[in-house]
Amino acid sequence: MRIHDLKQRLREAGGGPSHEHRVLRLWSHALPRNSGKRPAQSFFPASLLAALPAIEAELAALARIHSIHPGADGSERLLVALADGQMVESVLLPRDGLCVSSQVGCAVGCQFCMTGRAGLLRQVSSGEIVAQVALARRRRPVRKVVFMGMGEPAHNLDNVMEAIELLGTAGNIGHKNLVFSTVGDPRVFERLLQGAVRPALALSLHTTRAALRRTLLPRAPGLTPEELVSEADRYARATGYPVQYQWTLLEGVNDGPDEIEGIVKLLSGRYGVLNMIPFNTVDGTDFRRPPWEHCRQIARTLLQRGILAKLRDSAGQDVDGGCGQLRARASEVRVALPRSARAEAVHADEQASAASTEFPMREEER
Ligand code: SF4
Repeated sequence: MRIHDLKQRLREAGGGPSHEHRVLRLWSHALPRNSGKRPAQSFFPASLLAALPAIEAELAALARIHSIHPGADGSERLLVALADGQMVESVLLPRDGLCVSSQVGCAVGCQFCMTGRAGLLRQVSSGEIVAQVALARRRRPVRKVVFMGMGEPAHNLDNVMEAIELLGTAGNIGHKNLVFSTVGDPRVFERLLQGAVRPALALSLHTTRAALRRTLLPRAPGLTPEELVSEADRYARATGYPVQYQWTLLEGVNDGPDEIEGIVKLLSGRYGVLNMIPFNTVDGTDFRRPPWEHCRQIARTLLQRGILAKLRDSAGQDVDGGCGQLRARASEVRVALPRSARAEAVHADEQASAASTEFPMREEER
């Protein structure tokens, strides 16, 4: 169900804007119908009251928790079953954050990513995105939502923008606490600015070398790192929210002095922060996580060179922390990585990076 379909249903049942707002607020906060100041019986028109049980049942059926995987860091990975049996992952993060999925699978096809291996299976509707938040709120408060789970939000832009608008209004989440993560689809930079709720932006960069990036994210739009940073910076200055540049550190791939020089050149004077997350090891890849001390040294060097860099660890590493790992395990998806991938590519581990963006287990001291 899409949110505009839900609104239509409410209108057809005799609901006005205030009734619609209350239904959306209660749903997105996982609250019962009578939790407002005025009892539902005296607030809603009779025709809507009669229709509400069926509508509420449909909303409740959008998503249910299939399994819960607590991490040692306080995160909780939720494997969420959608009404048609498809599965997505949501991650409850320390400090009231939630990472949601916007697609089942993903068409970007990063050769290193568990989610990307099966391709795109289907879009996640705006209702299913909000349902992930409602499910999570039954377990904990959620004050921040990051679109860094399974899928590329830019490839499901209408649904994601609809969900963002609801979450930033009736869902009562601060706009800067809604984080849209992309590999850099140019449509994003324009469309997000036109929305009623403008989220913060996270950009998966991972390297300053255009050729390497094309290898790592083979079906990402072909903008160069310079073009991407320029667009992202323009968005950040228009919204007032700094860009979160994502960088998964891979031993021997993007953790060398050449990348440090590239980062200094690329990000000096930009309105953003560089989140560096050491690769979260997954089965079936040849990629390696660099030693923590090496990662610390990179972050220190960048800070000394004037780049706001944060070194973080990914949430829930002990519970299949990589993007799509839980779902893959549940579905018994097993796809071998090409042996050649190691030579040129990195495992960006998108969702694990995302999960740690604002909720560090260990943040580098400065
Ligand atoms: S890393 Fe992100 S963009 Fe790439 S395939 Fe995986 S989910 Fe899609």
